[in-house]
Amino acid sequence: MLKAMRASIGYYGKAFGPYQFDRARIVETPAYRRGGGQSFPNTIAVGEGVFAWDVRDPNSLDLVTMLAAHEIAHQWWAGQVLPARMQGAGLLTESLAQYSALMVLKRLRGEGDIRLELRFQLDRYLAGRRTQTLAEQPLASAGLDQDYINYGKGALALYLLQHRLGEEAVNRALRRFVQRYRFTKAPYPRSLDLIATFRAEAKTPESQKLITDLFERITLYDLKIDRPTAVRRPDGRWDVTVPVEARKAYADGHGKERRAPLNEPIDIGLFTADPAHSTREDVLKLEPRSIHSGRQLLRFVTDRRPTHAGIDPYNLYIDRNSADNVAPVVG
Ligand SMILES: [Zn+2]
Repeated sequence: MLKAMRASIGYYGKAFGPYQFDRARIVETPAYRRGGGQSFPNTIAVGEGVFAWDVRDPNSLDLVTMLAAHEIAHQWWAGQVLPARMQGAGLLTESLAQYSALMVLKRLRGEGDIRLELRFQLDRYLAGRRTQTLAEQPLASAGLDQDYINYGKGALALYLLQHRLGEEAVNRALRRFVQRYRFTKAPYPRSLDLIATFRAEAKTPESQKLITDLFERITLYDLKIDRPTAVRRPDGRWDVTVPVEARKAYADGHGKERRAPLNEPIDIGLFTADPAHSTREDVLKLEPRSIHSGRQLLRFVTDRRPTHAGIDPYNLYIDRNSADNVAPVVG
């Protein structure tokens, strides 16, 4: 927790603006209070149950780092910038705390943990929208207690935003946002103000559209790979063909969907091991390709024979069947 706390204050201080205190404390609280963490000025309270979690296994998700980094992030998101108490406020507190914690997790534990965490948040969001009683809202107007949106979808949306726009661009926007609203009095910032700040960093129509999809709509993707093949070439390298099927839809608050035209860069990966358990050396190729609605064939040439191919192999996009994004290479 101390390691996560130090890393968090270091990263957030550089990325978003200075920490407002000269100390930070972690306080252990009884388990009967509430499960995880809570953030107060310069102090985070962590339930005693969390201290018993064993995260030494590198294959287990490091929830301790995630929790400590999330609560420290609230020193900025709610501690320095307080949103107007209205729909969309969760984007300025919980979603930004999730994003901040993911950036710290990436630094301390690497991409493997990010994937586990994103999968966890995806499940949380999808399960939430299946069992919701209130109509689902886009992130810009989610209710204060719609946790599956504010935490779950918020983490995914902001992670994808930094993947597509760049971490530097997202942090530049957040730094500007903090500068503008740090310790402000009413009127307090709304989700619309944050989204406008992101838009100032989105240099292409494609990026503007992404921001609309992530924050102002309920957007669902269906990305799938079907029997990728690899054939040896006379020069000893491999011709790899990856058949992809892709669809995008917009849903209304009650889950009714309508088709949306898809035309955006989505990562295609070629691996020498299942990407769920792969290391950096197993990645032969990971590059964005322009993906449109329907079926399409993508072609690559590789030096080594891939065993697996995937579209959005690390599940950055909201896709109800994330398992069919990756398939073994045949032929
Ligand atoms: Zn929080």
